[in-house]
Amino acid sequence: MDLNKDVKYIKGVGPNRVQLLNKLGIFTLKDLITYYPRTYEDRSKPRNIAECANGDEVLIEAVACGSLSDVRLKGKTMQKLLVRDETGSCTITWFNQSYLKNKFEIGKSYKFYGKIVNNFGKITMTSPVFDEDKKNFNTGKIIPLYPLTYQLSQNVLRRIMEAGLAEVEGKLEETLPNYLLEEYRLETINEATKYIHFPRELKDFEQARKRLVFEELLCTQLALLTLKNSYCKDEQGISFNKNVKMSDVINQLPFKLTKAQIRVLEEIDHNMEAKTSMNRLLQGDVGSGKTVVAICAAYKAVKCGYQVAIMVPTAILATQHLENFQKMLEQLNIKCELLISGITKKKKEQLLERLANGDIDILIGTHAMIEENVIFKNLGLVVTDEQHRFGVKQRTKIAEKGKNPDVLVMTATPIPRTLALILYGDLDISIIDELPPNRKKIETFAVNTKMTQRVNGFIEQQIQEGRQAYIVCPLVEENEELDLKSVEQLYEIYQKKVFPQYKVECIHGKMRPKQKDEIMEKFKAKQIDILISTTVIEVGVDVPNSNIMVIENAERFGLAQLHQLRGRVGRGNYQSYCILKYEGKSETVKERMKVMCSTNDGFVISEKDLELRGSGDFFGTMQHGIPEFKIANLFEDMPILKCVQEIATKILQHDPRLEETKNLLLKDLIKDKFMKRIEI
Ligand code: ADP
Ligand code: MG
Repeated sequence: MDLNKDVKYIKGVGPNRVQLLNKLGIFTLKDLITYYPRTYEDRSKPRNIAECANGDEVLIEAVACGSLSDVRLKGKTMQKLLVRDETGSCTITWFNQSYLKNKFEIGKSYKFYGKIVNNFGKITMTSPVFDEDKKNFNTGKIIPLYPLTYQLSQNVLRRIMEAGLAEVEGKLEETLPNYLLEEYRLETINEATKYIHFPRELKDFEQARKRLVFEELLCTQLALLTLKNSYCKDEQGISFNKNVKMSDVINQLPFKLTKAQIRVLEEIDHNMEAKTSMNRLLQGDVGSGKTVVAICAAYKAVKCGYQVAIMVPTAILATQHLENFQKMLEQLNIKCELLISGITKKKKEQLLERLANGDIDILIGTHAMIEENVIFKNLGLVVTDEQHRFGVKQRTKIAEKGKNPDVLVMTATPIPRTLALILYGDLDISIIDELPPNRKKIETFAVNTKMTQRVNGFIEQQIQEGRQAYIVCPLVEENEELDLKSVEQLYEIYQKKVFPQYKVECIHGKMRPKQKDEIMEKFKAKQIDILISTTVIEVGVDVPNSNIMVIENAERFGLAQLHQLRGRVGRGNYQSYCILKYEGKSETVKERMKVMCSTNDGFVISEKDLELRGSGDFFGTMQHGIPEFKIANLFEDMPILKCVQEIATKILQHDPRLEETKNLLLKDLIKDKFMKRIEI
């Protein structure tokens, strides 16, 4: 038996169906048997006709009491069949299925599965699937339902699956070591494969699924940890000088660091001094003070004789970082420069030259920094801010401009720790779990559109007191053109109708970086009262005087994103407000708004977000470089994930290269799944 055999050789698969299967990502026998059901329908236990309630989807076992009659009805034909069991009778109907004509014999028993309509005691079932009494193709068992593609039916795919499974039945080689199967009471790969498709009862399914999820998560976690080990082993990283003290810059700061900031700086310092290169994720809620951590790390790298690259997703953010870095580091004789796509050719040439000969210590910029002609003299530290905007590839690309530089990845998307271990399992993790003191809680209100006037009144009152406001536009789609339209519409409304007496401006992703910067500068300088914006302001921009944010159509945003946006206010000494305007009455929307109003804790919000959206979406919105899971669901399977994380760590502690005989299967497993990414 060859698992890599083309699906076209499987019984029932003709040229036409090959194409359909390919569309589903099924090319080989292995792909087929690992194409798991989306859900199941229990068609195994018959019910008595008299006991069926309106709307139930049920299996009935009944005898045909008459022959099938064809009825014409407004151009359609309808087939009717009266059947009866010991408790009652039921009229079965189909539409346009004349071929059924000779299928049923009076007095013979059949099984029907379908939806019951009970109209004051008159029971009917429309378009059921059926089997002859003793047959079990469509009924009599739990039936898997697969994700489908147009023109491929459940019945056809199920038949193909049955044929595929028949070929491998009992012949699959075990993929997990025996000691794990025994210790965690997992069933064999043969059992799991059979029962995940055709469970005899619920328990079969649960056991099979547990085994497959375990395998999938274990394999991913082992692979990531192995990848992490390989960073450390293969080549030596930079060992930064122990005599250069971060405290020199810390003492210059205008504020005292929080305990959490000090702790992560110690972790980073330790990592930088070690011989192995640093690959660290720094997580901290918006406003927790990650920038200053990056400044301290950069200081150390520069004073040890290396250059630093700070890569951020937007030009606005790069500019703001530049200011902050310069404020702290220029006095210490460190040269910081900005590289964004908007600068002139001549300026850029000069910049690149100074970079290459080591005249620039810290280069801050956008992905323009990845371009080939950007050459560092000796890059020693790479910091990427707001990681979720960059792919793993971009992170690696910038790091390749140095010789094993240390890498610090900063993100404001709080991720529950277990999840971080699987999303960023190849990185060490530091968490800032404390905000600087005296931050006021951002008061958040969810309102429907009827409240618009009151909200506007409130904005006016705040502006009168000298504050400024953000108004964030609904996300129309992942489509900048449409988003643009909505900014402009909002601008019209607010500037012309609502607040003609104030200065309103708008800012969006389609503007040139320079233009965006100018507007942000004006907003910072208080020359603009109300800034209408798309989510370009989502990341990092700091305007302490602005204390009110109105988010239009808040229901269109994810919780994590709302939280990020909200983080733009509450940065100064003023009480800040976030007003979520939403439309619609759905319970999920209300629940989401409730979460936002009840907490300012990014970790709580991200867990809720995950729960309400499911992990699929969570992963979809992040470019993480991890293959999608075939069966695991990171939210539902959190207990298995936790268990597997411990197992993976333990296994690698004892056998880091998976060389022991008992672990060879695991090595195969990760090689098979992550072939391109990992060399062990
Ligand atoms: P984020 O983690 O969202 O990037 P920032 O680094 O932009 O947060 O910090 C937010 C604000 O808090 C900045 O104005 C920064 O100067 C200030 N800040 C950072 N750390 C402290 C601290 N320990 N005490 C007081 N203010 C701080
Ligand atoms: Mg930041």
